[in-house]
Amino acid sequence: MKQQKIAILGAGPSGLAQLRAFEAARQAGVKNLPEIVCFEKQNDIGGMWNYTWRTGLDKNGEPVHGSMYRYLWSNGPKECLEFADYSFDEHFGQAIPSYPPRAVLKDYIMGRIDKAAISKYIRFECPVRWVTYDESSKLFTVTVMNHRTGKQETDEFDYVVVATGHFSTPNMPYFEGLEQFPGRVLHAHDFRDALEFANQDVLLVGASYSAEDIGSQCFKYGAKSVTISYRTNPIGFDWPKGMSERPLLLRLEGNVGHFSDGSSKQFDSVVMCTGYLFHFPFLPDELRLQTHNCLYPDNLYKGVFFQSNPKLIYLGMQDQYYTFNMFDAQAWYARDVILGQIALPAAAQRQQDMQSWLARHEQLTGCNDAIDFQASYIRDLLEATDYPDFAVEAQAELFKQWLRDKEADIMAFRENVYASTVTGTLATQLPASWLDIKDDSLESFMSLDFIEANELDKVD
Ligand code: FAD
Ligand code: NAP
Ligand code: MG
Repeated sequence: MKQQKIAILGAGPSGLAQLRAFEAARQAGVKNLPEIVCFEKQNDIGGMWNYTWRTGLDKNGEPVHGSMYRYLWSNGPKECLEFADYSFDEHFGQAIPSYPPRAVLKDYIMGRIDKAAISKYIRFECPVRWVTYDESSKLFTVTVMNHRTGKQETDEFDYVVVATGHFSTPNMPYFEGLEQFPGRVLHAHDFRDALEFANQDVLLVGASYSAEDIGSQCFKYGAKSVTISYRTNPIGFDWPKGMSERPLLLRLEGNVGHFSDGSSKQFDSVVMCTGYLFHFPFLPDELRLQTHNCLYPDNLYKGVFFQSNPKLIYLGMQDQYYTFNMFDAQAWYARDVILGQIALPAAAQRQQDMQSWLARHEQLTGCNDAIDFQASYIRDLLEATDYPDFAVEAQAELFKQWLRDKEADIMAFRENVYASTVTGTLATQLPASWLDIKDDSLESFMSLDFIEANELDKVD
């Protein structure tokens, strides 16, 4: 049989999961593996975890992918994103706290990747420009701009795996008066350093993770006040003095924001924490996933196979409680379909399966429910492949504890510790409050004197 050829678009955690899945098969001695080419717009692997100071356009004139900022710490417990085939203990050789900063998590993600083994598959600085599918040859044509050679390149593939992420293209709403606002107006995507907002009155629009975390960062690094404006529901935490929530911004007059409850306040800066658009400028309508940020995008069988052309595979397109281990579960499943080890059912049956998940999705009320939903989605994938089984349901309980911990103290929830469901290791505790640890570098974090679990018992 002719060797199959697959294109992976993006080398972030999802694309890397796909590469790793094939690498695991290769190590297990599976024969007739497909030829793989991974196209990555940036000059390194890691996707969103690749911190960049740049905003706007990169050195090649491409839109900057990164939305992460300095001082960003994991917003969920690391025990809920642990790879089942590469534990935190294996990587760090010691217990570490449950909520590491970005650089520490990135170090962990990279640790699993044998860079030498996979880098031969990756073409860096090659943004994908256009993808088409030919019904008669049953092949995709992928065109990329190779910025390293300065030439466009085109090649044909049997499968295309889209792993380009969906937290990169700002959803930027307009409010009357924004064009006359005298201070800085930016989207969360372009937020890089909370210190810029020290001593300022900052307005954040939006009421989800970005607003919660950028608000907390600004508070931590010395903003005078942080006001969060919500459209539907307030976030509702017991915010520290200096942080508060108001209903929707109606308009700005000079530097004054007017809100729907009739209140007003002066601001120095406005950060739109209003989420992201699913943006696939390289896909024609018939191949393009059209959705919004939710736990079960329509038209994806098993959350990955595009219904009208299941040789087109999307990874990581769900809103994410689970991240890295969910991408793995998806990538292993996709690999086994590509290898012919799992047969895809006919279109009508796939449709039926999606409908049952979508119906369940519609019934979800609240976060606990949503967590259980994503857990059962992952469980469904895991059953079918040899990805090491992991305690998805126990991790769901950790997520629920995380919700309660945030409720109890939004500024201190990162001081809580949980036990790994992979190794049983109990995380160590931060030696100081999260608000007081201001250096987020890998070196600084790893040189902290973490408090061991057995010492914690003594403190109790
Ligand atoms: P991405 O990481 O976005 O990677 C996509 C890759 O595709 C990028 O490398 C990009 O350069 C490339 N690409 C895009 N377009 C093209 C193109 N046209 N051609 C070629 N390549 C392209 N998750 C957690 O688990 N914990 C956290 O604490 C956490 N914090 C977050 C904070 C922020 C501000 C954001 C936005 C997200 C956060 N996430 C967090 C979620 C994050 O999305 C996932 O952890 C993960 O990065 C998703 O992986 P991905 O590979 O699907 O997408
Ligand atoms: P999001 O979860 O999609 O939320 C978007 C928010 O914007 C919602 O509150 C929405 O309100 C609001 N919104 C949209 N349009 C609006 C408008 N016109 N006016 C007012 N409000 C509007 O996006 P996100 O908060 O950017 O989070 C994206 C991802 O980044 C998540 O996966 C998150 O985990 C991750 N993240 C992680 C961290 C971290 O700490 N590690 C930090 C930031 C982000 P409605 O409810 O009214 O629609
Ligand atoms: Mg299994």
